[in-house]
Amino acid sequence: MEILVCVKRVPDTAENEFVMNSAGNDIERDDLVYSVNEWDNYAVEEAIQIVEKVGGSVTVVTAADADADEILRREMAMGAENGLLLNDDAFVGSDCKGIAHILKGAVGKGNYDLILTGAQADEGSGAVGGMLAAMLDLPYASLVNRVEVGDGKLTVGREIEGGRREINEITLPCVLSIQTGINEPRYVGVRGIRKVASVEIPALGAAELGIDASCVGAKGAAVRKLDYFVPVKGAGAEMLAGSAEEIADKLVEILKTNGGIS
Ligand SMILES: Cc1cc2nc3c(=O)[nH]c(=O)nc-3n(C[C@H](O)[C@H](O)[C@H](O)COP(=O)(O)OP(=O)(O)OC[C@H]3O[C@@H](n4cnc5c(N)ncnc54)[C@H](O)[C@@H]3O)c2cc1C
Repeated sequence: MEILVCVKRVPDTAENEFVMNSAGNDIERDDLVYSVNEWDNYAVEEAIQIVEKVGGSVTVVTAADADADEILRREMAMGAENGLLLNDDAFVGSDCKGIAHILKGAVGKGNYDLILTGAQADEGSGAVGGMLAAMLDLPYASLVNRVEVGDGKLTVGREIEGGRREINEITLPCVLSIQTGINEPRYVGVRGIRKVASVEIPALGAAELGIDASCVGAKGAAVRKLDYFVPVKGAGAEMLAGSAEEIADKLVEILKTNGGIS
């Protein structure tokens, strides 16, 4: 099975203190420590496990600047055979539809049976996977937390609100967005990283991908971020401190006082 996994380089929440930029419309992105989006790491692990069972190969792809080379190499050290960087000045400022458009270009460069994305990335849209499937006119399942390979189809488990689960059959080729917890991503050691340090990773721009530059980047973005902020705490907000028991007692007291329970 030929599998393409879309991976995004995101600021590492464990390694950074986030501050607003001077324009107040984004976080300050200079000097941040980056890593691969957590959901995408699960997607890569799932792809590797599928290939270990049924054969084939895994390609990891990202639409980003050249620094994203590091996350492609990390995922290749994990076991993905190929990396692909989609990089062009014309891509800067793309919205989710623009990103899906760029990724569609990469899909057209291969012969993939299965395309995986994460269920969501750092900006929380959860949109790219579904948009990519629609643009490719392929079947799509979201929030996938189990995959079994059949003959020309997959059986996939989906996480449903309230802890429920759903099992679907989906025809190949298809696009899945992968939920965390589907597997246990393998550890990537320094030796693995060194092994892929000098592997060539092709970089493709708009022209090579056959992308009309007016559909991507800031020019093609129909969604524009206007503001970005941490909401001011409301007057009624109260943070409860203490042990779990103390917090539970205080909460019950508050609910009783305010008529929530008798
Ligand atoms: C300089 C800059 C300017 C921007 N301008 C705009 C703007 O004008 N309007 C706007 O709406 N957004 C803008 N963005 C946000 C950007 O387009 C988002 O990163 C993108 O829309 C993905 O959103 P998300 O993180 O919510 O992805 P989700 O939809 O939550 O991601 C789901 C999955 O899609 C895949 N994926 C997402 N992004 C990539 C990628 N780059 N490469 C490979 N796979 C990917 C991953 O598998 C991921 O798990 C800008 C970002 C930057 C850095």
